Amino acid sequence: MPDKSLPSHARAVIIGGGIAGCSVAYHLGKLGWTDVVLLERAQLTSGTTWHAAGLLTTLRDTETQTRLAAYTQQLYRRLEEETGQATGLIECGSIQLALSAAKAEEMRRAYHAAQSWGIECAEIGTVEVQRLWPLAYTGDVQAAFHFPRDGRINPTDVTRALAKGARQAGVGIFEQCPVTAIEQHDGRVTAVESPLGRIATDTVVNCAGMWARQVGRMAGVDVPLQAAEHYYLISEPIAGVHPKLPILRDPGRSTYIREEAGKLMVGIFEDVARPWNVAGIPQDFSFGEIPPDWERMQAHLERACGRVPVLAQTGLKLLFCGPESFTADHNYLMGEAPNLKGFFVAAGFNSLGILSGGGVGYVMAHWIAHGNAPMDVWSVNIRRTHAWQNNPRYLADRVVETLGIGYQDHWPFRQWSTARGVKRSVLHDRVAAAGACFGESAGWERPNWYAQTGQQPAYEYAWGRQNWFENNAQEHRAVREAVGLFEQSSFAKILVQGRDAERALNIIATADCSVPIGKIRYAQFLNTRGGIEADVSITRLANDRFMVVTAAFTATHVIAWLRQHIAANCHCIVTDMSDAWCMLSVQGPRSRELLSSIADGDWSNEAFPFGTAREVQIGYQQALALRLTYVGELGWELYVPVPFAVGVYAAIVEAGRPFGLRHCGYHALNSLRIEKAYREWAHDIGPDDTPLDAGLAFTCAWTKPQGFIGRDALLAARSQPRSRRLVQFLLSDPAAMLYHNEPILLHGERVGLISSGMFAHTLGAAAGLGYVRQEQGVSEELIASARFEILIGDRRVPAQASLRPLYDPSGIRLRG
Ligand SMILES: Cc1cc2nc3c(=O)[nH]c(=O)nc-3n(C[C@H](O)[C@H](O)[C@H](O)COP(=O)(O)OP(=O)(O)OC[C@H]3O[C@@H](n4cnc5c(N)ncnc54)[C@H](O)[C@@H]3O)c2cc1C
Repeated sequence: MPDKSLPSHARAVIIGGGIAGCSVAYHLGKLGWTDVVLLERAQLTSGTTWHAAGLLTTLRDTETQTRLAAYTQQLYRRLEEETGQATGLIECGSIQLALSAAKAEEMRRAYHAAQSWGIECAEIGTVEVQRLWPLAYTGDVQAAFHFPRDGRINPTDVTRALAKGARQAGVGIFEQCPVTAIEQHDGRVTAVESPLGRIATDTVVNCAGMWARQVGRMAGVDVPLQAAEHYYLISEPIAGVHPKLPILRDPGRSTYIREEAGKLMVGIFEDVARPWNVAGIPQDFSFGEIPPDWERMQAHLERACGRVPVLAQTGLKLLFCGPESFTADHNYLMGEAPNLKGFFVAAGFNSLGILSGGGVGYVMAHWIAHGNAPMDVWSVNIRRTHAWQNNPRYLADRVVETLGIGYQDHWPFRQWSTARGVKRSVLHDRVAAAGACFGESAGWERPNWYAQTGQQPAYEYAWGRQNWFENNAQEHRAVREAVGLFEQSSFAKILVQGRDAERALNIIATADCSVPIGKIRYAQFLNTRGGIEADVSITRLANDRFMVVTAAFTATHVIAWLRQHIAANCHCIVTDMSDAWCMLSVQGPRSRELLSSIADGDWSNEAFPFGTAREVQIGYQQALALRLTYVGELGWELYVPVPFAVGVYAAIVEAGRPFGLRHCGYHALNSLRIEKAYREWAHDIGPDDTPLDAGLAFTCAWTKPQGFIGRDALLAARSQPRSRRLVQFLLSDPAAMLYHNEPILLHGERVGLISSGMFAHTLGAAAGLGYVRQEQGVSEELIASARFEILIGDRRVPAQASLRPLYDPSGIRLRG
């Protein structure tokens, strides 16, 4: 029975009645948005939700996803009492096993981070595993971790409970009502159409699960996800199997095992998965199953029997295969579309939709109602994706790897092995010939490090020093002592042009953009809370033309942010020029000598000071040279039109030998910038960090006539004690390695986490950045006098702390 007749207008229309749609409806209702309609093509839960295994495990890959999972658990605990609808919640806890020393190291690091996020967990011995799970074989277990608050629910019941809660708040839910078209006008969504009628609305939420890509297309919005086959099996009843048996997660065997009505359910995360219906998901697929491939599952079944030997003597009741949607990076897709105002997405849950669903609804509802997410959700923001990623072949090839990745080793610097080579710079083959070992970012193949003659440019992963450690050391030293060449063509280059470009940028950016032609500004774009949404350089190229440069992976977001914040009456146009220019960065004390030897003009400090740009001629070619550095040395970034790039590259390489030129990769860029305490957006700074927290307030032009977005929030915060500050750390032990998320201890108390870290070859040990929180304030004196340690696995490693960069604190070298 429909709730009531379909209204002709609604404040928001939610498309899809799975866990995501019902959770968004529930949370919008809680915020008092009662004029909301949920349209479901068939019946509630009929897509993917009905057949989920219902695991509620909290520890995820990122802090955001862990926090959303923790919120979800809390919500599901109270939902039954609140709505009167049972949810089938069983708080059985979970155990995760590590079968290798490397996995044990990974898990130890992860569980320490989880404890910092408030998750209850502990390392337990095999005797305890055996006690909790008497049927499990533990002979191969190297380490085990217990999460006592984890549990499971019935996905259908919990979705019904959310729907009931939404209805109680006044939300209208309509089943058998597929959305068939989405209307828009002037860049904003205006209505949805269905066989039951048209609803005018300025907010649409696409929660259509594996159909979300097709629904996105109705609106011209890319929702890059693809369904893949996902399996579990259920045994016949087994003596000793009871509901309180913890969920046993066994990544070494790509399986999880849990109780199901006296039987065992074994879920399988295949290393090589199979995409399902690449051409499009059928419109009539409801409560559907995929005929299982018994042969393919045989090996997995045998591995599960290895863990629970009694399974080998037990019959199988069911082998189930259902489709679930996966994304290119194993993170889900949330937020407002970059190219259509009012069109929100919550989809692509990579088999985490039930355990994240509550948190997803909470975040989405706040985002819709208040215009921003209530917390930093960059890792799951749809604006991290790129339009080209909606390529069906790319997605089909990538999800083969995405499905299983959650259960594999999460090595530092791990690279994707599928769907590679999407974007290659015109210099690709040349840097490959120079030994580049490539990594991928935003589809770009980028040199991460360079192999020596006779060395394979391939990763050998480890938690300690990896096989490229010495290559990185040499590249790092070349930049500090001579000169390095970085191929950084992936950088996003955005032109902001028009009569009002200066005015528009002055409002959006922290820095004063009213500068002479040829001047470069380092700046952030802030949200109204003062949080950092983008970290950019802005170069004035003409009175009415600026170039904004940022990292490739942020391009969609930065471009959308600019377009969204340019006032309608401003004559200002944003154009993505990223693919039109290569970028070669020449950095190091001998960069001036090298560039002067091949280029025209005076490259002296007086003629070409830090923070300025000008056109230069190199050989027959032309480039725009920016005197800038991200490594803390004298250096220039050369922006070269693509057809000129080979010529400019060849000139630099040819002339470079006498100056000690070395090809340098992104790992060297990272080790150099961390040593110099330069921040990286999405790691050290993000939407929840202000320039005051991050030590970047020097970019703020406080007295600009029209102010800038976020200034008021910063001014209010400026008068408060600095309770949170980004600090640089240097470990006392050169054998210890930092990556990210290692807890920071102040006199033994947890006060933060490392946001990025790497071995700093000039300083001689691993260095890292991380926020320190102290309610009474984080002063210079505290940082200088306190005893800091970093928790790495189970080891507390003493660390030197500093608010100023430990390498070249006064920046003499970059101005040299
Ligand atoms: C075998 C298996 C086991 C799993 N186990 C777990 C687990 O243990 N824990 C966990 O967290 N997750 C698990 N998952 C994943 C989980 O099931 C999904 O992440 C989750 O159900 C996705 O929910 P959703 O709301 O995004 O999608 P769906 O449940 O598919 O909902 C989307 C809805 O949109 C509707 N729709 C589509 N097009 C339209 C349209 N044009 N108009 C109106 N409505 C439309 C569909 O009919 C559908 O009901 C598992 C998945 C599988 C396959």
